[in-house]
Amino acid sequence: MAQDPRLRSIATFEATCADCRETFPAPLLGDFSYGQFLLYGRRGTAYAYLDAPGHPIWELADSVIQSRDGEPILRALAAVADPVDGQPLGTDRVCPLCHSRRDWESWPGPRVGSVEIPPVTFAAFDRLADEEKRRLLRKYAAPSGGR
Ligand SMILES: [Zn+2]
Repeated sequence: MAQDPRLRSIATFEATCADCRETFPAPLLGDFSYGQFLLYGRRGTAYAYLDAPGHPIWELADSVIQSRDGEPILRALAAVADPVDGQPLGTDRVCPLCHSRRDWESWPGPRVGSVEIPPVTFAAFDRLADEEKRRLLRKYAAPSGGR
């Protein structure tokens, strides 16, 4: 299979789960990655990256949500993004072994390698009517996230 040119190679570092205490590699964006974000699959074994500046969906979310920090916008975008590898995306890091969402310990540890990560896509969301898009973004921007 040909390599997907949209995949981005992102460095991985050692992480230790605060719950199961296991150690595993996890990706981290470097410095100079302003406006770029990683989203995390619910089972902790899939990721997607988002280049926020100029992204049409970011612009839409920004106009609908009107938050001064990017957190609610990112949360909403993760919720309406296409799943990766069958995993719905979120903004919380997830342990790939026990699926805990507690903050990792000793993060980031030493660099261990890199992983190829696809861009976040919004194919399903893109097919919705404008009004429905706005409704969903507002709903998922709330702290409870509607989950
Ligand atoms: Zn764990």
